[in-house]
Amino acid sequence: MVKNGRAVYFCLLIIFLASCSPKGPYAVTNKYYKDKTKGFVTTIQKQLPDSLTDSTGRLIPSQWVGTVNFGIRKPNFVIIHFTAQDSLQQTLKTFTITSTQVSAHYVIAKSGEVVHMVNDYLRANHAGVGKWGSVTDMNSCSIGIEIDNNGNEPFTTAQINSLLALLAQLKTNYNIPQANFIGHQDFAPKRKPDPGPFFPWKTLAQHGFGYWSDDILELPPDGFDYTIALKLIGYDTRDINAAIVAFKRHFVQTDISPTLTQLDLNVLYNVYQKYNQ
Ligand SMILES: [Zn+2]
Repeated sequence: MVKNGRAVYFCLLIIFLASCSPKGPYAVTNKYYKDKTKGFVTTIQKQLPDSLTDSTGRLIPSQWVGTVNFGIRKPNFVIIHFTAQDSLQQTLKTFTITSTQVSAHYVIAKSGEVVHMVNDYLRANHAGVGKWGSVTDMNSCSIGIEIDNNGNEPFTTAQINSLLALLAQLKTNYNIPQANFIGHQDFAPKRKPDPGPFFPWKTLAQHGFGYWSDDILELPPDGFDYTIALKLIGYDTRDINAAIVAFKRHFVQTDISPTLTQLDLNVLYNVYQKYNQ
């Protein structure tokens, strides 16, 4: 009897410990994340002066004097993506194995749940090669938000509600300008189609995140140069057709062919004025 009682007690203890265990499906990657951030602490605590040489190879005298007035660099852009995957679980797996080399700060599930994967002050691998204005290393100055969506379906209301709440917090925390909420397609027009024509940019603009054209549009003035307008908004116009398609995915959405109709030009002129006010 006593022996059986001990066995029951032992089993209950095991169940209790298992239920309290910090281990979950992402325990290993969470530890990897923590260890990696410790490495960055070592990097930013280094107090060594740069070793500089002049054009003749002579060492330039240098020393370290720590200032008392400094802070941590903040993100100044938000890049919005769709995952082009079939489920949140698939995306979480993609972002928690090293072989893919990709990640984002946030992933928003169809249910509206927000998964935070990289601290806002750290650099996620979401934007890759591209150009917006003069910014080429977008990963170093942006927050990447992935929305669980396969690329051919509407976004859920819950996703957009969560996104709006998240964007409001980011805009306030880091003082991000309205113009600096853009899509991956805008930054990398030759490579990326996301978040695509289903994405509700108009709703975002109404809340102060990015721009959308006015309901009443003026004709552009004579001599209006659409290439210069696209460039001044931020688009990389070295491939003008790719820039036009990216612009239309974002600001026209009903047609994404690489030609500009009169209506498209009116929209472009209107949006160009907002980005250059
Ligand atoms: Zn993307």
